[in-house]
Amino acid sequence: MSGAARPGTVYLVGAGPGDPGLVTRRALELVRSADVLLIDRLVPVGLADEAPAAAERIDVGKVAGNHAMAQDDINARLVAEAQAGRRVVRLKGGDPYLFGRGGEEALACREAGVPFEVVPAVTSAFSACADAGIPVTHRDIARHVTVVTASAGRDGQGDPDYGWLAQSDGTVVLLMGLRRVAHVAAALIAGGAPPDRPAAVVARGTTAAQRTVVATLATLAEAVGQAALPSPAIIVVGDVVALRDGLDWFEQRPLFGTRVAVTRARAQASSLVARLADLGAEVVEAPAIRIEPLPVGEVDAAVDSLDDAHVLAFTSANGVERFFERLAARGRDARALSGLRVAVVGTASADACRRHGVEPDVIPPVGARTGAGLVDSLTTQGVEHGTLVVVVRAEAGDEALVDGLRAHGAHVHVARAYRTVVEPPSADLVAQLRDCDLVTFTSASTVHHLVEAAAAHGIAVGDLPPAISIGPTTTAAAEAAGLHVRAQAAEPSVASLVEALVADRAR
Ligand code: SAH
Repeated sequence: MSGAARPGTVYLVGAGPGDPGLVTRRALELVRSADVLLIDRLVPVGLADEAPAAAERIDVGKVAGNHAMAQDDINARLVAEAQAGRRVVRLKGGDPYLFGRGGEEALACREAGVPFEVVPAVTSAFSACADAGIPVTHRDIARHVTVVTASAGRDGQGDPDYGWLAQSDGTVVLLMGLRRVAHVAAALIAGGAPPDRPAAVVARGTTAAQRTVVATLATLAEAVGQAALPSPAIIVVGDVVALRDGLDWFEQRPLFGTRVAVTRARAQASSLVARLADLGAEVVEAPAIRIEPLPVGEVDAAVDSLDDAHVLAFTSANGVERFFERLAARGRDARALSGLRVAVVGTASADACRRHGVEPDVIPPVGARTGAGLVDSLTTQGVEHGTLVVVVRAEAGDEALVDGLRAHGAHVHVARAYRTVVEPPSADLVAQLRDCDLVTFTSASTVHHLVEAAAAHGIAVGDLPPAISIGPTTTAAAEAAGLHVRAQAAEPSVASLVEALVADRAR
């Protein structure tokens, strides 16, 4: 199946266990073309944000014991929305047909004559085990796996048959059992299972917040209680649990268990966020600043002066992007740069130039990638009296570059391309920030904006997490603001920032 959602149809879509990477392509395609979404509590963060802005989002999430919307009402709503001709996406945690009441919803559609489709998905029952390092089957250890609900069910249906499960020589995975761990373990032992049978609880499986407790049936309840594991969680019982020792790849990643705040503007944050998440970190995105283009005048003047200029200098990737946008708008392309030298302050602006087909001529050596460093590089490479340097940069840029060049007799035209504006984080976000282990800063302005925002919500600088900084200018700004800087990138790039962070955690 593929294609956008069709009007008048209900899609019962599994959203996977929590990791946004485990959402199927079909699920994403349908979310992106939905008119209305009925969303469960346990769906990956950010998935519903993929829906069109105009789509209606209905939160039918059930908090244990507190049904936000009764199942009958959900069924009725699904049918009514489809009959009104809308594209209806019902987003459900894990697989829609495994303890997800997807069957009931499909039957309701069927009964009303409403067309429906089911999108199967990765279930928590198996994926939480996999990410905890527990293969649910193994040829020599467990030749079958049973998935049951530990919930007592409605209408006094009662417990699963623990006597039968206790006799299993395979793996048993129990869902909806976190609050009944003691009961589950006791019932299995009472049914004849050996008290030393390996057992584990995996909470928030497949997410950066995953936590695993390994014990035996006899000790599980106490171990889980001590660890105060959060929901949702699965219980897994069987000898395969012992394999975790060697197979625990997920929780062994270098940044697993580390909460990192990322403060760069959202447009630029994605590569840093992706790298950190890949290494296992839980990332809190705090876009303290937003990039806002300035009126075109100064950049257009810079474009028009290219024929007289000797050097074109960029201090950021944002400046590069804005410049090339205006270059094109004025009917020119990279050939307009052929007669001059292109200078950049660091790898981000160098990469941005390359994306536009221009290889920078001048980049300061590692360790000197600042405005002052660029002055040194340029002056040792022939910038002198009368040289015309066009500098494209932010409104509040590093004055060391302009002052330094002028001190060497250069004519400097500054083109202010954009400014960074504060995007105040919510009180909730600032509170989350305080719980982070580290905060990354990629510019001095993000330092200032974050500290301001924290103060606005009554949080002292001393309560903010220690910082990892992208370079000397940022470090100086952070220290001046009263932050504790734990590490600094060897060179101002995202890769190097991540390296510094990993090294710091390893210590
Ligand atoms: N259809 C879902 C299950 C819904 S029942 C699926 O296929 O995964 C809800 C139960 O699923 C929770 O009580 C918990 O036992 C389990 N669960 C869901 N997400 C989980 C996760 N990320 N980690 C551990 N258990 C999870």
